[in-house]
Amino acid sequence: MKITRISVYQKDLPLADPYWLSGGRLKFEVLDATFVKLETDAGLTGWGEGTPWGHTYVPAHGPGIRAGLETMAPVILGQDPRMNELVERAMDLCLPGHLYAKAPVDLACWDIMGKACGLPIADLLGGKRDTGTPAASSVSSGDPDYMMGIISKYREQGYVAHSAKVGGNVDRDIDRIRHIEANRKPGEIILYDVNRAWTRREAGIVMNAVANLGVTFEQPGETLDDVAEIRKVTTSPISVDETLVTLQDACRIARDGIADVFGIKLNRVGGLTKARRMRDVALAHGIQMFVMATGGSVMADTEAAHLAQSVPQEFIQASWSCQDMLTIDVAPGRGCRTVNGILTVDDTPGLGCDPDETILGDPVAVYE
Ligand code: MG
Repeated sequence: MKITRISVYQKDLPLADPYWLSGGRLKFEVLDATFVKLETDAGLTGWGEGTPWGHTYVPAHGPGIRAGLETMAPVILGQDPRMNELVERAMDLCLPGHLYAKAPVDLACWDIMGKACGLPIADLLGGKRDTGTPAASSVSSGDPDYMMGIISKYREQGYVAHSAKVGGNVDRDIDRIRHIEANRKPGEIILYDVNRAWTRREAGIVMNAVANLGVTFEQPGETLDDVAEIRKVTTSPISVDETLVTLQDACRIARDGIADVFGIKLNRVGGLTKARRMRDVALAHGIQMFVMATGGSVMADTEAAHLAQSVPQEFIQASWSCQDMLTIDVAPGRGCRTVNGILTVDDTPGLGCDPDETILGDPVAVYE
C-alpha cells in the first residue's frame, strides 16, 4: 500500500468564550486548525489534525504545519502508511524537529492502519480498556469566583476533572487554590496548571503555602531544569507537559524523578508513534498520565482518546475535550463525544472520525 495523495485543509475553529491562559497572559479567541487527508492506492483514506493552542503557547503554529507539510510531502508520498516507523524516520530525516508538523501525518497513518486491520487505533496500541477516560475541562485564569463558576458549568455536564489555570501573582494564586480546593467535591480531580508562568521563587512560595492540600501542579517553571530545582524545595506532586517534548525528556523526567505525572499532548510530541513510547516509559516508572491534544476539534480529541484508553485505569488521569469549547463541529455525528464527563472510544476501525469535507471547504494544498 502506498500514499498517493496528501490533501491539506485549513479551518478556523472559533472558541465559544475568549480564553485567558495562566496569569491572564495570553488571550485566545480562535484556533488555526490544519486537517490532513492521506489517500492510498488501496482506496483507504486516513485523517489527522494539527491544531496548536495559539502560536504563543509552545513552539508551534498553524502556518508552520502547512509549510512543514510542503517540505515533507515528497518523502511522505510513496510510503506505506501501515509502516508508521518508516514514515516517522522519513519525516525526521527530511525535517529534523518540527514535531507538531509531523503529528497530523502520523495520526492519519494510524487511521489507515486501523481501517486496514478492521480495528480501532486504541486496539492497535495494545488494546482498549472497557471504561472510558474522564474528560478534563480547561478553566481559564481569573478571580476565584469566576474560576469556580466555570467549574460549576462543567460539573453540570458531568465533568469530574478540571485543569485550572494559575500563575502570575503569588498571593492571588494562593487565594485561588485555597478557594477552589475548599469547594472541590469528593473524587474530583483538579490540576493547577501554571503553564510556565512562575519563576523558581514564585513556585516555591505558592507550592509550599498550599502543600498541606496535596494538590498537583502542572509545569510550574519554564524549563525542565527549573522544574527539577522547584522539585527540590517543594513536596507537592508535579506534572510536566510543555517541556515533555522528546523521548529523551521523558526518560530524564522518569530517571531523575522530576515529575510524578506526564502530560502527553499528541501534537506537541509528534503523533501517536512517539507518544506511545512516552506512555510506556511512564508505565515502567509508576508515572500517571494526562493524554490530550494541544487543542482542536472532535478529531483531535478522538486521536488523544484512543491513546488514553490504551493506558491502564490506575495510570490515566484525564483527557481534554477541547471540542466542547468550540462553536463549530467538523465531524457531526462522528468521533468521541463527552457523555456524562467521559470520553469513550467505540469499535469503528481506525480513528472513527472522518470529517465532513463540505465543512472543511477546499484543500489549501494537494501533493501527489
Ligand atoms: Mg498544561
